[in-house]
Amino acid sequence: MNEYDSEILRGLLIKSGFVPVESEESANIVLFNGCSVREHAERRVIGRAGMLRKRKEKDERLKIIGVIGCMAQAHKEKLFGEMPYLDLICGPQHIYKIPEYLSEILAGRGPIVAVDEDKRPADRENHLLRDENIKIKAYITIMEGCNNFCSYCVVPYVRGRETSRPPEMILKEADDLVKRGIREITLLGQNVNSYAKDFNNGYTFSNLLKEVDAISDLKRLKFVTSHPKDADEQMFKAMFKLPTVCEFLHLPIQSGSDEILKSMNRKYTRDDYLRKIDIARRYMPEGAISTDIIVGYPNESDDDFKETLNVLKQVKYDTAYVFKYSPRPHTAASKMEDNVPQKVKEERNQILLNLQRDISRKNNEKYLNKKLGVLVEGFSDKCDKLLVGKTRTGKTVVFEGPQVLIGKIVEVRVHGTNASTLLGNWKKI
Ligand code: SAH
Ligand code: SF4
Repeated sequence: MNEYDSEILRGLLIKSGFVPVESEESANIVLFNGCSVREHAERRVIGRAGMLRKRKEKDERLKIIGVIGCMAQAHKEKLFGEMPYLDLICGPQHIYKIPEYLSEILAGRGPIVAVDEDKRPADRENHLLRDENIKIKAYITIMEGCNNFCSYCVVPYVRGRETSRPPEMILKEADDLVKRGIREITLLGQNVNSYAKDFNNGYTFSNLLKEVDAISDLKRLKFVTSHPKDADEQMFKAMFKLPTVCEFLHLPIQSGSDEILKSMNRKYTRDDYLRKIDIARRYMPEGAISTDIIVGYPNESDDDFKETLNVLKQVKYDTAYVFKYSPRPHTAASKMEDNVPQKVKEERNQILLNLQRDISRKNNEKYLNKKLGVLVEGFSDKCDKLLVGKTRTGKTVVFEGPQVLIGKIVEVRVHGTNASTLLGNWKKI
């Protein structure tokens, strides 16, 4: 979400006459688009901004330091407590006003705090405001906010209630992006399965998938995130039938223990979840499935943790994103005692990561000697001779090839694998 907001903001700022610079050192304005979902990310923003503050004291070219995004919304003016030098604190609802705010601050009318709970004007989210550098894949937000109130999660408090964007607007944006050369679109929402429920007219997320899929020249369509309580067979069927929709499902379980799931207010049991996985696999036997897991949630016992380990072994995810629990402002869980010691959180985190690495490595071996369609995204950061791309199932593939392949879907034969990457050969035919 924040990445997508940064894309919009970058485009907006360029349109308003601001010029992007290559490095932080040469910037007059530095804005941190901070995520409030976990404490760790916030700490990093505070650390990085603190270093800049020292430069600001000596270097008068650095005029504005701001924190924007849901981190700003979560803490509001309180951020001045830790970061008294900030010139701008701006929540995600007010992103469209940032060029105006920056001009005000430059004219000496700062600092500015913009954190009212207004709704974000959905009809102004136009890709034309975006960065022209986005050439191969793009995100489109289909809905804002969340109604689920999982006990640990700050999102409903910083992004408000679920509001779906009208399908016509999403389709227009997708169509324009594809005309501009975008090959892959990812639809974004905190719980895409409840897309359009607020319209009360029978339109569903599956209907939207069908309409976006029909855009000619779109090659790949992905989406995140599906909530297990709402992901239904209709959606798996749509994924299976629609040619552009990729065989990739991110279905966060969070914990394998029913007791913890209940305390998290997730509204499904471990067995409900596993049944959905079975249905998904029936429609996409070759598909990839990923998940999110929180370790060290209040009162998580060794037995609860074992249940989570069992789910990992049973589902054999392609990827599992593991997070150590941190209490977040406003949330129900923050009123509970954060009683799993940091050391235990670290241990559980490590155990899960090791187990998942083995599972991912094994899963990837099945691609050996297979030919896969790869959307080429660019040269590798590590070696500029190697191209990097993604399969429909989200696997990263690295191979040698010429620059002209960037942006194309090419066939690559896999000759090596590890837990995170497939190594391949491409040959001109
Ligand atoms: N809407 C998505 C998730 C959004 S937040 C969903 O429901 O799946 C992304 C992930 O951050 C969550 O899935 C969860 O695993 C993690 N997360 C959220 N709050 C957290 C907290 N307080 N501590 C640790 N991890 C958290
Ligand atoms: Fe947070 Fe739960 Fe909503 Fe996901 S579904 S954004 S975890 S409250």
